[in-house]
Amino acid sequence: MQEIGHWINGKLVKGTSGRFAEVFNPATGEVQAKVALASDAELNHAIAEAAKAQVAWAATNPQRRARVMMAFGALINANMDKLAELVSREHGKTLPDARGDVQRGLEVVEVCMGAPAMLKGEYMDSAGPGIDLYAMRQPLGVVAGITPFNFPAMIPLWKMAPALSAGNAMILKPSERVPSTSLLLAQLLQEAGLPDGVLQVVNGDKAVVDGLLDHPVIQGIGFVGSTPIAQYIYGRAATNGKRAQCFGGAKNHMIIMPDADLDKAADALVGAGFGAAGERCMAISVAVPVGEKTADALIERLVPRIEKLKVGPYTAGEDVDFGPVITKASQDRILGLINSGVDQGAKLVVDGRGFKLQGYENGFFVGPSLFDNVTADMEIYKQEIFGPVLTQVRAKTYDDALKLVMDNEYGNGTAIFTADGDTARDFASRVNVGMVGINFPIPVPLSYFSFGGWKRSAFGDLNQYGPDAFRFYTKTKTVTARWFSGIKEGASLNFKALD
Ligand code: NAD
Repeated sequence: MQEIGHWINGKLVKGTSGRFAEVFNPATGEVQAKVALASDAELNHAIAEAAKAQVAWAATNPQRRARVMMAFGALINANMDKLAELVSREHGKTLPDARGDVQRGLEVVEVCMGAPAMLKGEYMDSAGPGIDLYAMRQPLGVVAGITPFNFPAMIPLWKMAPALSAGNAMILKPSERVPSTSLLLAQLLQEAGLPDGVLQVVNGDKAVVDGLLDHPVIQGIGFVGSTPIAQYIYGRAATNGKRAQCFGGAKNHMIIMPDADLDKAADALVGAGFGAAGERCMAISVAVPVGEKTADALIERLVPRIEKLKVGPYTAGEDVDFGPVITKASQDRILGLINSGVDQGAKLVVDGRGFKLQGYENGFFVGPSLFDNVTADMEIYKQEIFGPVLTQVRAKTYDDALKLVMDNEYGNGTAIFTADGDTARDFASRVNVGMVGINFPIPVPLSYFSFGGWKRSAFGDLNQYGPDAFRFYTKTKTVTARWFSGIKEGASLNFKALD
């Protein structure tokens, strides 16, 4: 059985706690490795070493730090297939999708190649007689990244690239379900020139997270995961005086107006609803067509598209549309939610519950499911399903559809499909959601913007990656400097000895 340890001071090390978590192959249901769960002593050692390494790293000029990001970007590209395979092997997503996972992380590394421009600070000369003011951006020190299972490459890269290029050291605690990709990324960073100790990958579970939240050396926490954990981490980090940005779960709606191109809307819904088995925080899980005619026409287009989807292991070829979900518990939860939808009176138009694949009977597969006539009081509407289940809530008017989106407790992403610019503008302006797509189903902003939801999808006040990340990972120090007048005042023209 493969044993996965930690990355400490530039080396892969074995865990010593004696505690492990199982890493599954989601396609077969078998345990493929065990990952060490760090003890307090291991975590404290990693933090102490990171604190030492951070001093020299922070003193390294920003352009040299950026060059490490340049070399890192090149190495990610050179190792794209290896990274993608690792992502697929532990997560179960298809290889093309896994390459996208790496690519959207790489794009954040690319922006961090220009980090010096974002670290420049501010300057005002002659703010008073002989007085200049300047504000410096200085790294926080040692920060922590705590990441979810669903993007094993992208989200660790969203955390590490801005934090490190701003001069911090980072303790990364990846999801214990997908630990290997972060370890390979750490090796590539070392190859790119990152000094040992500046990035430590400490595998673990709640105990390590709590250790990070309570450790006095840790200055900032960047978390991505489910809403209850995000809220817990935000609260405990704040109580301990740390800055924290904690991104949580989602329930993303797409409004389809009667004037929308319904074929394009249906294609978009199938991609955004079922890609990565629905395990994306920006997945569209609720379609909201406006008007009965639109709703009927949409269902007519969705059903054949969904029935054609090919579900299977990533090893079955590049034409597989999506793979298994992450764990047996997740599979059971999703199947239970589909049952609850039926019990509560929604119409199950496509039923993925009976899905079986020869040779993979114990895999964590769920076939694609489509519900119509869903209402806001049903569990399948209220909960983040995080599986291959698309629900349709029929709205009478645009205002009803907008109200549904706005009343939802989550506010990560949303989209509208329409041919009318005025409706699109009105939607983008009024909706209380952080990321909005117009005829675009998964509006994950490009890496020179920044990513963050509203309402219960995020706790904290700055977004991740882009310019906000540099605000988050640096402290501002403002200097007011006065220089008294020198020899030019009252200067003597006589040749005389110096006093
Ligand atoms: P999760 O909350 O279970 O785990 C996230 C991290 O928190 C992991 O590293 C895990 O080890 C740790 N953790 C789990 N339970 C903990 C506890 N009780 N105390 C302390 N730490 C704990 O999330 P997940 O299942 O890995 O990921 C899926 C969730 O992440 C979904 O809700 C999804 O919407 C969300 N997500 C959000 C974003 C975003 O940017 N908003 C992006 C991706 C995923």
